[in-house]
Amino acid sequence: MSQTTETIFSKIIRREIPADIVYEDDLALAFKDVHPQAPVHILVIPKKVIPKLDAATDDDTALLGHLLQTVKKVAAQAGLEKGYRVVINTGDDGGQTVHHIHLHILGGRQMSWPPG
Ligand code: 5GP
Repeated sequence: MSQTTETIFSKIIRREIPADIVYEDDLALAFKDVHPQAPVHILVIPKKVIPKLDAATDDDTALLGHLLQTVKKVAAQAGLEKGYRVVINTGDDGGQTVHHIHLHILGGRQMSWPPG
């Protein structure tokens, strides 16, 4: 799959395929991961297609900040007051499988370290 083309996440943004959407604003969308790895597993994505963190440019600095602020809001909305983990898998060694930058919010259980 080309890393510059649209992914399934663009289809979710356009409502062409279903997703359990928990938050939306002009710049970002958050929805439940289809294969949850924790009791709470939500993905936060920008509506703009950025294939991975390394592809973000200086012009995306405010957007990246907005995504982190969105994580905070969505985590609070999900009741994760005891804490949670935020993950951005990047590239092959990072385990990235969908080439549209996304922040995983994982919570609802004690996380271990180091991650696998
Ligand atoms: P990555 O491995 O790229 O960091 O994470 C991609 C995530 O997207 C995975 O956790 C995977 O379960 C999730 N995912 C892939 N396809 C879909 C889908 O069609 N719908 C939803 N809700 N999640 C998806």
